[in-house]
Amino acid sequence: MSREQTLKPGSAIGIVGGGQLGRMLAMAAAQLGYRCHIYAPDDAPPAAEVAASFTRGRYDDEAALAEFGASVDVATYEFENIAAGPLTALADHVPLFPPRAALDIAQDRVTEKQFVAGLGGRTADFAAVDDLASLRDALDRIGAPAILKTRRLGYDGKGQVRIADADEAKAACDATRGAPSILERMVNFAAEFSILLCRSRTGETVQWDPPANVHEAGILRSSTVPAAGIVLEQAPGAAQIAARIAQELDYVGVLALEFFASEDGPVFNEMAPRVHNSGHWTIEGSLTSQFENHIRAICGLPLGSTRLTAGRVEMRNLIGDEVDAWEAILGDRASHLHLYGKREARPGRKMGHVTRLLNGPA
Ligand code: AMP
Repeated sequence: MSREQTLKPGSAIGIVGGGQLGRMLAMAAAQLGYRCHIYAPDDAPPAAEVAASFTRGRYDDEAALAEFGASVDVATYEFENIAAGPLTALADHVPLFPPRAALDIAQDRVTEKQFVAGLGGRTADFAAVDDLASLRDALDRIGAPAILKTRRLGYDGKGQVRIADADEAKAACDATRGAPSILERMVNFAAEFSILLCRSRTGETVQWDPPANVHEAGILRSSTVPAAGIVLEQAPGAAQIAARIAQELDYVGVLALEFFASEDGPVFNEMAPRVHNSGHWTIEGSLTSQFENHIRAICGLPLGSTRLTAGRVEMRNLIGDEVDAWEAILGDRASHLHLYGKREARPGRKMGHVTRLLNGPA
């Protein structure tokens, strides 16, 4: 399949990863007449319930990923932590979007910050840390308060330790178990926001309104559009950097970038080469959701409009036992409830989300 070629409805889309992102991608794909095949290691992943087929396999099983790749017409991923070897096994058999380069960069917090800084983005002061000695050196240079994060495999605040004072270096190093890490200066931010864009195979690019995001304990709590105040002021600068990144990577699909709005302007935090939790509001809050546009992009279709459908849109995650409020949420006519079908509501686990459309049509 050439890059410009359109994948016809009825074709098979492979999705690596079986969580809620895969579930919502599969639902958007089904609306356009595609059949999704999910690949994930779990027994009954949320995405498999709404997809045409499911292969249970480990993310490091090269033979299984190669077979999976050969069974679909295009592949994408909703899970980022696949090693280079298995990814190659997959990409050897089928076009894979977003491109490998984006995934390679986003998998490592140091590489990611260097890449974005190289394209003119501002980042927090940072240093690579390999052991206690290099952590002490980094703290000398960067100062405290700072935050130590593992370079790889961190998500939702996992693998992160805050360091209020240089005396805490040893404890922080123990907490990350000496894994290769990054030390970042704590950014004194007024707000957090993200840039969500989608780029098609022909380079057509759309962006959604940038949501203002609130995190708690490293987990996204809520996203709201349109953003106001400092986020509104700083979003255009961040959007330019995002567009540059997409161009540089010859990107295809949805790309999400998280920023801090600070006194010094927008500070890039991290990027996700996939659909993103801060874009869940787009299902009802914009004319075309991030999930639909991602499917359109990887299938070589034109992209849909990202215009808002309401004057104000608020998305709130349902974390752990907050999901028990489902009935009360349904009683509010402004609310749209999404449950991910996860059987066990563990603390910190994203069980669903609710999007409220307010203030009439946009
Ligand atoms: P991350 O996993 O990098 O997205 O971090 C999760 C959350 O922790 C962010 O959304 C921020 O709320 C906070 N955080 C991470 N890095 C920093 C930083 N360098 N300065 C201040 N807050 C941070």
